[in-house]
This record gives sequence, C-alpha cells and structure tokens, in this order.
Amino acid sequence: MNRYQVIIGMEVHAELKTLSKMFCGCKNDPFHAGKPNIYTCPVCLGLPGALPVANKKAIEWTIRLGLALGCKINRFSKFDRKHYFYPDLPKGYQISQYDLPFCHDGKMETSFGPVGITRVHLEEDTGKLIHQKVNGRNVSLIDFNRSSVPLVEIVTEPEIYSSAQAKEYAKKLRQIIRYLDVSDCDMEKGGMRLEANISLKNVKSQMTNDKSITNNKIQKEELPKYKVELKNINSFRFLERGIEYEIERQKEILEKGLTPDQETRGYNAEKNLTYTQRSKEEAADYRYFPDPDLPPIRFDNNWMNEIKSSVPKLLETVFARWEKNFKINKQSAELLFETADEAKKLEEIFSSLSKQKLPVDPDLIGVNKFINLVIHKKITIDLFKQSVEEVISVYKKSVAVDDITDEDLKVFVEKVIRAQPQAVLDLKAGKVQSINFLVGQVMREAKKKIEFQRLETLLLKMLL
Ligand SMILES: [Zn+2]
Repeated sequence: MNRYQVIIGMEVHAELKTLSKMFCGCKNDPFHAGKPNIYTCPVCLGLPGALPVANKKAIEWTIRLGLALGCKINRFSKFDRKHYFYPDLPKGYQISQYDLPFCHDGKMETSFGPVGITRVHLEEDTGKLIHQKVNGRNVSLIDFNRSSVPLVEIVTEPEIYSSAQAKEYAKKLRQIIRYLDVSDCDMEKGGMRLEANISLKNVKSQMTNDKSITNNKIQKEELPKYKVELKNINSFRFLERGIEYEIERQKEILEKGLTPDQETRGYNAEKNLTYTQRSKEEAADYRYFPDPDLPPIRFDNNWMNEIKSSVPKLLETVFARWEKNFKINKQSAELLFETADEAKKLEEIFSSLSKQKLPVDPDLIGVNKFINLVIHKKITIDLFKQSVEEVISVYKKSVAVDDITDEDLKVFVEKVIRAQPQAVLDLKAGKVQSINFLVGQVMREAKKKIEFQRLETLLLKMLL
C-alpha cells in the first residue's frame, strides 16, 4: 500500500445581502420573493442592449471581506465576462473577475496550520433552474429572482490537508463573513456554497517519516497532475463526508496505477457518495475578456480609508480582549458565535459572569466553566435569544451547590486525609496542585457539589 498526502483547495461562494442586485436596481431578496421572476429587469434578464451599472456597496463589502482575511487590495481592478452556455445564464456569459480580482494573497489561521487565500473576487449569481412535473410532463422552469445577485468567491491555495481542516476553514470563513454582516450565508437555501478541489499525492518515494506526511506545504510544481472538483456542497458535514469518500475513491484508482479523471463531481448525501457531473473546463474555455460595458475601478485613498473604517474590529482583537479580561482561550470561544451581534451578546454575558461569585471547578477558572458547559451541551438555552440575566440564572442553577454543614463536611475531609497520605505530603511540601486533587476527592466522597473555595479553606485549616 502506498502512502498518500491529501491536497485540498477550496472555493466558497457567498451571496452578499445588499439591497439591490449587482448590476441593476432590482431587489436582492431571492429567498423571500414569494413568486418567481418578480425581481427582474432587462439587465438581469440579459435582454439585448441593457446596460449594467456596478453596485458600489457590493464592491465595498468585497474589499471589507478581503481586508478581514488579510488580503492585499488591487487599487486598479475590473470586471470580465466569463462565457459559457446554460439556461440559467441568459446573457451567455457571467460577469466575474479574471486577472485583477479586488483582493488577493490573504491568510486564514486554522488549528492545523495557516491556509493561504489566493483571491477574493466579486461576480454575479445565475438564475435558478427548477425541475418539476407540470401536467404530467417533466419540465425545467427558470426563476430569475436570483439572476445577478452579488456573489463573492473566496479561493484558497491548495494548502488544506484533511477533511477536518477543510471543515474548520469553511466554518471560520462563514463566521468571518457573518461577523462582517455582509451575507447571511444561509447554506440550506444556497446563500453559501462550498467547493473542494481534491487530489492525492503519492509520498512514499519522497518521505519516509510519518510526521512529515501531513501538513507539509507542497510546491506548485509538485502538485498532482489532476484534481477533482467537489461542487455545490451545502453543509459542513457533507463537505467532510464528501471529501472522505473522494479520498477513498481516488486511493483505489491510484492503487491500480491509474490517474483519476480531472472532473467535477457532486455529492449525494443520501447515498453518501460522489458522482460525475462533467469533465472540467480549463480557464481558456471560458474566453474571458474585460466587460466593455463596465468601466475599470480605481480605488483612491479616500475611498479606501472609508472602507477600512467600516471594517468592524477584527475577530482577533475580540479574542485577545476576551483572553485578557476573562481568561478565555481562543480555541474554546471562537466557534460559539458567528455574527458581530452575537459576539457582543457573549461579551455581555462573560462580563456579567466574571462579576458573579460562583463555585467553579479548580481547573476551570471564571468564564471558562460556563463555556465548557455550553460546548458540552449542559446549558442548552439559546444564548442569543435570552436576556443576560436569564442566561446567568440558568448557569447558576447548573452549578448550584448542595447544602452541607461544616461538621458533616469535616468527616469527609478527615477520611480523604487518611486515604491520601501521599497527596497530603506533596501539599505540605509545597506542591499546590495537590489541593485540587484533594478537593476533588472530598467532593467525590461526599457525593455533593461543594464550593471549591470553601473546601480549599477547610482542607488547609485542618491540615496545616
Ligand atoms: Zn434587474
């Protein structure tokens, strides 16, 4: 059996929630339209002679996202036409960005290592095909409410090395986009769509050390000669499962000495398998060229400063503040919220919690105990729908202490002191962690929840 390194690059699309569409004044609200084809005009229907005008807000929001992802911004940029034929694209081309995207060369940190952001560009969404039976016949209907809705695409370098890392990347990206308040990223409705380009590299010959096989940055010229594009995934779980399936499928082909086809595949969640959709086009097939109807865009310093000032405090600064004020480590807090409003609410809860005198576990100081309970679903209320007071009261109930007199408690303490002579010696010798152990033993012995501070004081008084 050969050894393979998984190599994944991701492309994520998110619909921006501007009031109007990307190149016309039509309402941008395809999910609540009620009826098909009501938010349409000659521009988004692709009628001849109709002229597009770019949505300034959508451009600003794309830059905002790029800045949040640490990207460089192209001060001179343009829109290009990407040609292909499909019934949901009436113009015969999609307005997108080719060689001068608004943003490029950013980075996202994941717990597995950094992932390079190749580019963030702006384009328009297509109409939506609906396949159904009408009068006994199978027909395809088209709804143009979504046609020309602003769509950002975020492309990574092939620097993701596992399905778990791909999932973490996608989750964090959605958090950042929602935090910036530029898209709802509703994945069920198609407001955010995930794609993963997956290939496997045989690393048997190059490396022998197991550790070096994962997370080892691959040079461009060493990338496999093929990649399979897993398209239109609408949940994080499906992304992970689809990639896992694809890894096994490609392994089998490579083991036979063959190369997997370069193609686009879909994921069938019911059967948990991927299937061929079409063979992959090369960029040249799209005959990209600059859109002659849309003037190029130049960002002067004033405009750029204006956009920069509209970027909310980056998530990193929020986490740093939480760490400083509430001793929360970033890893445990970062997936508790998505939007800026939710972050604000959490901070209110943390702030209120940190002022309460509450019994806590010895190794979980302050607010971390609360976060721990939320993560492990011991606190199940919706933190963002309840008042801060309500949340605190639920928390207090879940960590409430049992009633016990000092006299009764002393019996258990004595028992533990007798049963744990080594820990007692350690404590007397200055090993402070022993107190945590001893307190834990007393609680176990008493089968009660008792305030840590109270037990600690009692133990020390009886020992020293
Ligand atoms: Zn329109």
